[in-house]
Amino acid sequence: MSNRPGKTDVILIGAGVMSATLGALLQELAPEWEIKVFEKLSTAGEESSNEWNNAGTGHSALCELNYTSEKPDGSIDINKALKINEQFQLSKQFWSYLINKDLIRQPQDFIRPLPHMSMVIGEKNVDFLKRRFDLLSNQLLFQGMEYSDNTEKLKEWMPLIMEGRSSNEPIAATKIDSGTDVNFGALTRILFNHLESKGVEMNYNHSVEDMKRTSDGLWEVKVIDLENEKIEYHTAKFVFIGAGGGSLPLLQKTGIPESKHIGGFPVSGLFMVCNNPAVIAKHHAKVYGKAKVGAPPMSVPHLDTRYIDNKKSLLFGPFAGFSPKFLKTGSNLDLLTSVKPNNAFTMLAAGVKELPLTKYLIQQVLLSNEKRMEELREFIPEAKDEDWDIVVAGQRVQVIKDTEAGGKGTLQFGTELINAADGSVAALLGASPGASTAVHVMLDLIERCFPHYIEDWQPKIKEMVPSYGISLVENPELFQEIHASTTVALGLGEELPVYS
Ligand SMILES: Cc1cc2nc3c(=O)[nH]c(=O)nc-3n(C[C@H](O)[C@H](O)[C@H](O)COP(=O)(O)OP(=O)(O)OC[C@H]3O[C@@H](n4cnc5c(N)ncnc54)[C@H](O)[C@@H]3O)c2cc1C
Repeated sequence: MSNRPGKTDVILIGAGVMSATLGALLQELAPEWEIKVFEKLSTAGEESSNEWNNAGTGHSALCELNYTSEKPDGSIDINKALKINEQFQLSKQFWSYLINKDLIRQPQDFIRPLPHMSMVIGEKNVDFLKRRFDLLSNQLLFQGMEYSDNTEKLKEWMPLIMEGRSSNEPIAATKIDSGTDVNFGALTRILFNHLESKGVEMNYNHSVEDMKRTSDGLWEVKVIDLENEKIEYHTAKFVFIGAGGGSLPLLQKTGIPESKHIGGFPVSGLFMVCNNPAVIAKHHAKVYGKAKVGAPPMSVPHLDTRYIDNKKSLLFGPFAGFSPKFLKTGSNLDLLTSVKPNNAFTMLAAGVKELPLTKYLIQQVLLSNEKRMEELREFIPEAKDEDWDIVVAGQRVQVIKDTEAGGKGTLQFGTELINAADGSVAALLGASPGASTAVHVMLDLIERCFPHYIEDWQPKIKEMVPSYGISLVENPELFQEIHASTTVALGLGEELPVYS
């Protein structure tokens, strides 16, 4: 792309982990391109990407049971687990490249090794976990996974969870040491600092209000400078709408055909955070349980050691709930104003179909602290009320669209990349699996929106992400090589001290 005065090559809307990742990739692929970022808040990584707003799991299906569903014939499908694990390997490779090139430093500020465990109670669940283990432990990407239903072993693995457990119900767990805790907020800030040092223009306190196509095929973006109360117009050849929950309203403003018949369903969240250092010190893992019957996949309870601000913390949750806001800092009118003539039927159909989910989420909002403590005690039988506080997590906006399989108004739990046919604008909707797969999703965006550059960019992409376009499941030697090199680059082979 050539620069023309007053015009930018790329505009990134929103300073979350997705824009940060796309910016960092494009900066390496086309360093001569001019990039501008517009963020309505005063710093980067303050919405979903913030460390207190998400669970910080480097999702690789090492412990999340929802990636291995049971089919009607009773068999377990591990394809999703393999896919998500491979996608996280792409993120680890790109972060390692940035570290090895000295473009970013100190990986321990954003990623730490942490055992990932799945824990289940009850005969049926134990049987499921054992069969899941038998399938996954044969896969190279899950090497080192252990299973146990032995109480003594489980006490060793998860003392806090086993302490004071009196029930005779069968209990089992799997454990794998190659899991990670990722501070996506810190990562986002680190990536934007790097981009700024390379000349990317960061505009904080700038809210994008509108977008329209100009007669010469560019995108004109209307921005409000919130500090100076001034309206600005900026044009670019390519715009990425990486506004998290704010992406859907902006996508609708583009008027592109791909933006029609899509709606959003906001799901809010709460975490319980432990304030007792003695309790925090007793746990060292991410332990995922099984979602309750009727609960949406994003409400799978888990008890997580977290590393935030170089301190060890302990979080439990998330408790899903309903709020009409699309962003934590959004408006109560977000849901209502997202209903347009072109998506009204889609939204209405989803409203009827998803009534039980809405009911579930409203019930969750109304949960008393006592009820939340009861849920926590399923994990930590001896949990004390005074040791736990509540923090409000980020908003997730689940995509609603018409699909062949689900019909009109089907709720999607995944991430959706929507782009104009000519690749001039793209938006990221949905929340799951989220930040962990940012590199995979942004490489997909690059393929879709910059097809004419891909051939020239291939060698650089392969340098940054050596397994790009190659299945690691089918190439064990390459996986071993990448696993070893990313472990070293990201310091995942060693436990580093923290202040507690
Ligand atoms: C409770 C919860 C738990 C999660 N757990 C995990 C996890 O364990 N692992 C994982 O990988 N993922 C997890 N996720 C998902 C992950 O947090 C998100 O996928 C990811 O952070 C999304 O990044 P983003 O850049 O798209 O959005 P965001 O981080 O939300 O950034 C969007 C930015 O755009 C800005 N913005 C919005 N509108 C405008 C506008 N009009 N103009 C200018 N700026 C605007 C916002 O202020 C914000 O800074 C979780 C999410 C939630 C809510």
